[in-house]
Amino acid sequence: MVEQAVAAGVTRLIAVGVDLDRSANAVSLSHAYEEVWAGVGHHPLELTDPDIGAMRQLAQDEMVVVIGEIGLDFEHIGGPHRDLQVQHLDDLFRLATEVDLPVSIHNRGASTELLTVISKHSGIRGVMHYFALDWGWAQRFLEVGFYLSFAGLVTRPSRDELREVVKHCPADRLLLETDSPYGNAQKRMSIPNRPAYLLDTAEAVAALRGISLEQLADQERQNAITLFQKMK
Ligand SMILES: [Zn+2]
Repeated sequence: MVEQAVAAGVTRLIAVGVDLDRSANAVSLSHAYEEVWAGVGHHPLELTDPDIGAMRQLAQDEMVVVIGEIGLDFEHIGGPHRDLQVQHLDDLFRLATEVDLPVSIHNRGASTELLTVISKHSGIRGVMHYFALDWGWAQRFLEVGFYLSFAGLVTRPSRDELREVVKHCPADRLLLETDSPYGNAQKRMSIPNRPAYLLDTAEAVAALRGISLEQLADQERQNAITLFQKMK
């Protein structure tokens, strides 16, 4: 998959973790491939408490560029109680500040609560991963300094509101992702997503913003390096 991505021109990848085992896998991958960096995370729907000590150790690896994914998910049933999710996120933000890394945020139906947690952690920086909300919410996350990351969702016919966000997002706050194996573009809905398919989203975003794919790629590379500082 990495080779396929590189062949398609996608030369910087972040493998994120959603629990301790998969965070460790991401770190291993980042050492196996020079195009891959790692995230150490704890998904909000994980039923165990995050092991902050073990995460801290992993996060000190030179290839770890982000604490993620982490966040709040109030839409899917069966996850931890909302209050517990907020408590976990608070702990994970403290970890991010301690190890001086940005955060990658998963948000489902919890924007108000997220903004409250963000406001309690001055200096926290990061990205709203798989951004799927309207321009009103986009502005509130931009105001607190966050980046917005867009995935294949921007190519789906029903997502006009999201395409408005893509048009208005400041150039220096815009990121792209696949969220593979999820988040496919419309034209590949029946197959699992892959990093190489980032081009589907990039082409759509460049067209919406009226810029060339090369201009978007340059900006995107600069933004990734600015936010994920160790990702040179
Ligand atoms: Zn997510």
